[in-house]
Amino acid sequence: MPPLFYWAFLVLSGVLGLSVGSFANVAAYRVPAGLSVVRPRSACPACGTQIKAVDNVPVVSWLLLKGRCRACGAGISLRYPVVEFGTAVLFVVVALRFGLSPTVFAYWVLVAACVVITAVDLEHYRVPVAVLYPSWALGALGLVVASATEGRWGRLLFALAGAAIGFSVLLALHLISPKGMGFGDVRLAGFLGMFLGWLSLVQVAVGLFFGFALGSVVGIALVVVGARTMRSRLPFAPFLCAGAALAILFGREIVRVWLS
Ligand SMILES: [Zn+2]
Repeated sequence: MPPLFYWAFLVLSGVLGLSVGSFANVAAYRVPAGLSVVRPRSACPACGTQIKAVDNVPVVSWLLLKGRCRACGAGISLRYPVVEFGTAVLFVVVALRFGLSPTVFAYWVLVAACVVITAVDLEHYRVPVAVLYPSWALGALGLVVASATEGRWGRLLFALAGAAIGFSVLLALHLISPKGMGFGDVRLAGFLGMFLGWLSLVQVAVGLFFGFALGSVVGIALVVVGARTMRSRLPFAPFLCAGAALAILFGREIVRVWLS
């Protein structure tokens, strides 16, 4: 790919990531409340004033408004620009990983879903099916197109196997301890397993391993510093998503270092 074209692709990936991040903020706020993600337009939760398009530019508007509503001056959470910027960074990382190909679309769907699910799970301790199922369908479609383009249909079988493995491993834990492992995490592991399996079954194992490792380390650390007790709940979706991200980006390198 010519360098200029490649740079344009990366910049567009970032801009797309900013807009998807902005939509992810809306979804993370409205889906748990059972509201539509398309209507009405966003409004300030403090004064109810509709937010003008010019004040709704990802990250930039928050900075220009210094994190305050233009109408009433109420504070706008730092979470909004952080989610927008974070999504943009992840979109660019996925673009670097897969290049300009149909594959990049499928993994952008994964990123968008993980951002919303992580935000909702951190706040509400649940994985919303209203986000998971449409993302699953769209991501599967993306992987079918990617397999067709590459002419490697066998990858779809690995995607199916990855989904089955992720789902089964967490289902077993859910059956052993329904309170410790919610069924939302079981579904999520199936969803993530599809994307990891499409790459390779090794990546499914790496993703699950790092999901549990990160969850345990952070869970124990929070108990040690006194932020949580052994009995308090820990949202697990962020760790499963982080494990999947590590496996997608560095899975093969991690296994190579491991074996050597
Ligand atoms: Zn306001």
